[in-house]
Amino acid sequence: MLKLQKNQWICDTCGEVINAASEGYVEWINEEVDGETQCRDFHIVHQKVFSPRKNEHGCYQHGEELGRSDLPLENFMGGIGIAQLLSFIDLGEIIDPDNEHDPRINNFREYAEIFRRLHLPFYEEARLYFEMAKKDGFFDGANEIWVYSELEEIVKRYGDKV
Ligand SMILES: [Zn+2]
Repeated sequence: MLKLQKNQWICDTCGEVINAASEGYVEWINEEVDGETQCRDFHIVHQKVFSPRKNEHGCYQHGEELGRSDLPLENFMGGIGIAQLLSFIDLGEIIDPDNEHDPRINNFREYAEIFRRLHLPFYEEARLYFEMAKKDGFFDGANEIWVYSELEEIVKRYGDKV
């Protein structure tokens, strides 16, 4: 059983636990598409000094790739973290009063998943058990919100079976 604490994540690269927001980074690629920046390939990874691979290249996946971008995971926490995440889809009225900028996201499934992982309590661990819960019929009859209201229950019910 894993039992992630609040503000712990599974590194997308090495699969080990990121022990605190201060030990993580969020990385992605900025790409110019028709004159607008698009952001894709988001990962939650270890900051290099906390990486089990710190003596090699760390856990960053985008390496020297053109447009690689990253920020400390702490920048995505709390209210200002939500502002950070929302800025990818809308710069807001103060910065973009005429709504001239398109969302910087085109893969909304990927973006929503990163948002959930960063902000929904128990999501980061519960998602590991979704397949098991599906097979078990746990989600039968569920709607798109109920699924996320039962994350702690999923961890309790299926975490011990791993
Ligand atoms: Zn890692």
